[in-house]
Amino acid sequence: MSSTSERTARSSRRQRRPAERDPEVLAQRFARALAIPTISEAERDRADRASFDEFHSYLIETFPLVHEALRRERIGDHHALLFTWIGTDPAAEPWLLVSHQDVVGTEPGTEQDWSYPPFGGTVADGFIWGRGAIDLKVSLVAALEAAEHLIACGFQPRRTVYFAFGADEEVGGECGGALIAAELRRRGVTLAFTLDEGGMVVEGAFPGVTSKVAYVGTAEKGYATLQLTCRGEGGHSSMPARENAATRLIRVLHRINRTPMPAALDGPTREMLVRLASHARQPYGALLRNLWLTAPLLIRQLTKTPVGNASVRSTIAVTMAKFGVAENVLPQFAEATVNVRLKPGDQVVDAVAHLERIAAPDGVDVTLITANDATPISACDGETFQTLASAIAKVMPGVVTAPFLTINGTDSHYFTDLAANQYRFIPVSMKPEDLDRIHGVDERISIEDYERAIQFYIEFIRLADSGPQRMRR
Ligand SMILES: [Zn+2]
Repeated sequence: MSSTSERTARSSRRQRRPAERDPEVLAQRFARALAIPTISEAERDRADRASFDEFHSYLIETFPLVHEALRRERIGDHHALLFTWIGTDPAAEPWLLVSHQDVVGTEPGTEQDWSYPPFGGTVADGFIWGRGAIDLKVSLVAALEAAEHLIACGFQPRRTVYFAFGADEEVGGECGGALIAAELRRRGVTLAFTLDEGGMVVEGAFPGVTSKVAYVGTAEKGYATLQLTCRGEGGHSSMPARENAATRLIRVLHRINRTPMPAALDGPTREMLVRLASHARQPYGALLRNLWLTAPLLIRQLTKTPVGNASVRSTIAVTMAKFGVAENVLPQFAEATVNVRLKPGDQVVDAVAHLERIAAPDGVDVTLITANDATPISACDGETFQTLASAIAKVMPGVVTAPFLTINGTDSHYFTDLAANQYRFIPVSMKPEDLDRIHGVDERISIEDYERAIQFYIEFIRLADSGPQRMRR
């Protein structure tokens, strides 16, 4: 765009009245996004990408000012989108908001359990219902609503803002987040920080803490898949030897389950407890303030639940196993797959060594299939974390912001080398019992929560823009 046309666009924008912010209207606009079944698998299958084309049309139609003021690019030959909101100060380091257009499908047989159809785009009972209401169309659409509103108000960022919206996050992100990161790398872009999904506001999730807590992920666990294989003598099942490939593999799997990797109260989990200490009533406050003494006790408590356990150690899950060809034939070959989630500090080689130690006595081989280490830990006392906490407090008064370890994977890890810090948070409030709705039945968001999410992005974009962050040398 030439400078003349830029000026014209800007002045015509200034004259425009801020977009209508009636919660009911905003809810209906969001419901339309949820009605488009952008299921990840469909994007990968070249034959059926119509829903993603429709989603792109929806964005163009719903956010005209965004499409006028920001540069929109399709990255790769799938549906990944990169928006660039060019800042006025070239010396100010850009930041990036990561979200994704795709959603998981519904598990066959559960469609009937939904109160409203998963792709019906229903607004009812004070909620917006549908797959993607939380994971993750909420951040994508709410952030664009925020940008649309800010543009209508005449706002222009000082620092460049990128929006990276992959279309295959739920199936790994190789054609979305990965390609966008590669393109930014090719352009020599460095980022002050990224903001992606990960944590949210949870009520009553921590014993002794009565206020709601906004959990902001400051690191993301690593991911590794390993295959275990075992070979042995076959034969007829009418005269079995005491052991065969299957029985040996099963013994190893059982030992894996009983032999977790070591637990430790360190990294973001420790920082979370330190942050919550001053908000916890007694005796929890004292427990959290004296971690040098109470760590073993806290680890014992935390490891009693799957989430707590995953926050203090690298976990190993047996996910697949296969052996046998017929009911009366002894298996000569048995294999199993284990999925490992590595906490910061544990390396892929540590997990391999741990599994080899367990598998070797039974002659079971361990092969690494895919792996990436945990991300580095981002600062929870720096400027951006403080900006997040300020925006959260402004929109949700009384909410305590705390760092935490994101235990699931996000597209963020593709951008790790580009960004000084990475944060993982969506401005959505959940009760612990509601967490199953994500990827499950009856995913929904309340109309007020959705409006708050937009308000959060408006605040955050403004506050992040005024920060003094400069280019790193
Ligand atoms: Zn997601």
